[in-house]
Amino acid sequence: MIKGIRGAPDILPDETGKWQALETVARDVLDRYGYAEIRTPIFERTELFIRGIGEATDIVEKEMYTFEDRGGESLTLRPEATASLMRSFAEHNLAAKSSLVKLYLIGPMFRHERPQSGRFRQFHQVDVEAIGSPGSAVDAEVVALLHHLLEAWGLRGVELHVNSIGDPACRPRYREAFLAYLGGYRDALCPDCHVRMTKNPLRVLDCKQPGCRAVAATAPTLSGYLCDACRDHFAAVRGLLDGLKIGYEVNERLVRGLDYYTRTTFEFLNPALGSQNAVAGGGRYDGLVEELGGPPTPSIGFAIGEERILTSLAAQAEAAETPPITGVYVATAGPVDLRVAMELTQTLRRKGLRSALDLEGRSLKGQMRQANKDRFRYSLILGADELARGQVTLKDMVGGAQHEIPLAEAADRLTHLPEREIA
Ligand SMILES: [Zn+2]
Ligand SMILES: [Zn+2]
Repeated sequence: MIKGIRGAPDILPDETGKWQALETVARDVLDRYGYAEIRTPIFERTELFIRGIGEATDIVEKEMYTFEDRGGESLTLRPEATASLMRSFAEHNLAAKSSLVKLYLIGPMFRHERPQSGRFRQFHQVDVEAIGSPGSAVDAEVVALLHHLLEAWGLRGVELHVNSIGDPACRPRYREAFLAYLGGYRDALCPDCHVRMTKNPLRVLDCKQPGCRAVAATAPTLSGYLCDACRDHFAAVRGLLDGLKIGYEVNERLVRGLDYYTRTTFEFLNPALGSQNAVAGGGRYDGLVEELGGPPTPSIGFAIGEERILTSLAAQAEAAETPPITGVYVATAGPVDLRVAMELTQTLRRKGLRSALDLEGRSLKGQMRQANKDRFRYSLILGADELARGQVTLKDMVGGAQHEIPLAEAADRLTHLPEREIA
């Protein structure tokens, strides 16, 4: 039987409802902000993505599904939406309709990723673009829209990071200073970053390798090099976000290496997702349309990974249903002085741990059942013989392992064990 492609999962009938709900909410919110839907083909000329995404990017170098069609033309399945959308915008002269055009696109994108957790070869995005204005008010409204959308989906605990990456007037000075700095740390950088230094140096700032991170941590920061116009623009964006009471953190590492990206960049992170934790991100790209051969068209946009949103919502729902496994249950086996058990329980509680003991004289088996039911991470079992030797038994209620530890050290040791762990 022929199987589907890894990293390109089917969305089965019992899942499609969630996708429909997600997209219905998105359309509803986007409509309120005056955005209209555009649908472009899922494949384009390869050249569009090489110019629109940039040659020295992982997407273009390693991840595109590129093929020659029967006519010998090189075509590529879209790895992201912005280039296609801007191509269509310029080709159909949509600028003639309004000085600020608001468009969105929902659909599948394709990248040859390693299908590790959270990465797909066919994945889905909601892509949003506000085209035609350089104004800081547009940036603030776009961030507010994304914030609103995540809230409308019910996503909690996300963090907003913002930054300004300058423009062609000021970034070259920074690039020079940054390269001069990197030159002194060449040996500490990974091979990828050596390539980045020649093609796309700012991307060294978001390299995940520990050596590169250490170098980046003490590098000169872009904020010190912004020209007055960029500085004012960023201050205005932040001022508007403050006015809207949208919390954010300025993250100087939030960069995009390509020349056509300018000024505002932003990202919403869900710390609960682990290493692939960006749920949505975007920025201003005032130079992109020119790069594609069109007129100057200052624009800003963002893309949201639908899979990441659904994963976040599912994890959230699960966490809400099941309380975490934490704390210590103090159990007694046989005739044991209840005062010892009570004192130990009180000590654990004072040290900040959730703790309970049996107040009803149940059997050890009954106590263990209760400890599991109440989702305790560990139990301390007090037996008369062990206590006589100053020992108690520590049992891992998740893994099942148990061993004796000195009673006098029990409370201290338990405060240092991994308290919170989902089974
Ligand atoms: Zn690196
Ligand atoms: Zn500038």
